[in-house]
Amino acid sequence: MDYENTAEASEMSPHVLLFPLPIQSPINSMLQLAELFCLAGLQVTFLNTNHNQQLLCRHTDVQSRFSQYPKFRFLTISDGLPEEHPRSFGELISSLQAVAEPFLREVLLLTEEPAVTCVIPDALFYYAVDIGNEMGVSVIPFDTISPCCLWVYLSFPNLIQAGDIPFKGNELDMLIENVPGMKGLLRRRDFPFYRLTNCETDLFCQLALKEIHSIPRSHGLILNTFEDLDGPLLSLIRSHCPQTYVVGPLQLQLKTRLADHKRIMSSSNSLWEEDLSSIQWLDAQPIESVIYVSFGSLATLTKGEILEFWHGLVNSGIRFLWVMRSNLSREEEFNHQFVKELADGCKERAYVVTWAPQEKVLAHPAIGGFLTHSGWNSTMESIVQGKPMICWAVYVDQRVTSRFVGEVWKIGLDMKDICDRYIVEKEVKDLMVTNKDKFKKSVDKLSMLAKNSVGQGGPSYNAFQYLVDDIKKLGRRDKDIYINPSSIG
Ligand code: UDP
Repeated sequence: MDYENTAEASEMSPHVLLFPLPIQSPINSMLQLAELFCLAGLQVTFLNTNHNQQLLCRHTDVQSRFSQYPKFRFLTISDGLPEEHPRSFGELISSLQAVAEPFLREVLLLTEEPAVTCVIPDALFYYAVDIGNEMGVSVIPFDTISPCCLWVYLSFPNLIQAGDIPFKGNELDMLIENVPGMKGLLRRRDFPFYRLTNCETDLFCQLALKEIHSIPRSHGLILNTFEDLDGPLLSLIRSHCPQTYVVGPLQLQLKTRLADHKRIMSSSNSLWEEDLSSIQWLDAQPIESVIYVSFGSLATLTKGEILEFWHGLVNSGIRFLWVMRSNLSREEEFNHQFVKELADGCKERAYVVTWAPQEKVLAHPAIGGFLTHSGWNSTMESIVQGKPMICWAVYVDQRVTSRFVGEVWKIGLDMKDICDRYIVEKEVKDLMVTNKDKFKKSVDKLSMLAKNSVGQGGPSYNAFQYLVDDIKKLGRRDKDIYINPSSIG
């Protein structure tokens, strides 16, 4: 066991162990939650993989930032993979599980101060709930995906029973009618696993099923959203998990609480080096003239798709800032030279970086819209900054979220499935020129509601306080199995 930032433990302090999924977006959200807990005076341990901790320390100031909190410490473990391994999501999750299960048991066995009194794992780590129950420690998973996708997951048993999944045939426009609250809305193409033909062999479907069965056996559930955005779905989710703490948008919650403590929001939680020249470039652009293009930290595109997006953007005549990660495409011809030639071809209106300070970019007045893969963090960050979106969803929650962006919240366009330069050009013009005011008005309204939700007395502000109060009440139980009164339908 490898402790960093080891700090003096206060005697009776409630002690939270946070365990994020080892990828960028959950690490970002969990670090925000960790800092919020630090501000609330809790003892906090942040369990990170060695691999990600090294990246985090190399590219951010997390070490010095968190050293201000004497009750905080990082704890690191191996993810079970050699350093040079490409770490595909599936391999990473199963390899980490083999290391994390015995490790968690070992950590929770430690009863001398500071004993862990509450575990907050990513909800995908369903096994942490079983371990907590076994060891008599309360577990409150944090689900970092979109609540609209979580609700689809929670409806899986119904969908399987009704014969809606796995899919028979290839009709992607067919409606899925057995997700309560989404009747007439959700098509197969909006489903998290939209080509699902076998539930037993699909790794992600299996993980989702395990996750939803662990939720009712948890003490509660944390979600990064706000009541005014997801209210109707939250009522449905609460029918499975009554103790659902809705504390988002976390970045704003943190900003508010830091201000309460006369501190200012500091730097990022990025695993890669942020190219700050993107901000300088934006400084030289007119207000709301630039569309920001980013497909998050994991999604990949084919080289053909990249070219269609590029030509569509160039032909639209709109300025754009594009994050082209070095692994945005797995195809060999997608390399430094290819990206350089693209960028050189449109220097006057386009700027390309390999990783951007996204929250700062979205907050910049020159940004008028976001072409996004609809990852949940990106979606929340865009709503917070009042930037309408064009959605090119790739997988999992992105597919449901993008449908909500287009049809429920009406704060952008869901492009989905047909990647063609003419469509890209048309949608970019639609978002940035033709229907700019319409989209801006709807997203500004949500942005204001988001701000209100984390302001003093707002629902997310209060929910965070309830969460902290509840955590303070949690002690170590006798080893038992916690059964939540609700059950999976
Ligand atoms: N991000 C960033 N710089 C970039 C691209 C993304 O800092 O150039 C951050 C972004 O702010 C967000 C996270 O990476 O917090 C991506 O999370 P999201 O849930 O949107 O997508 P994922 O990467 O999980 O698919």
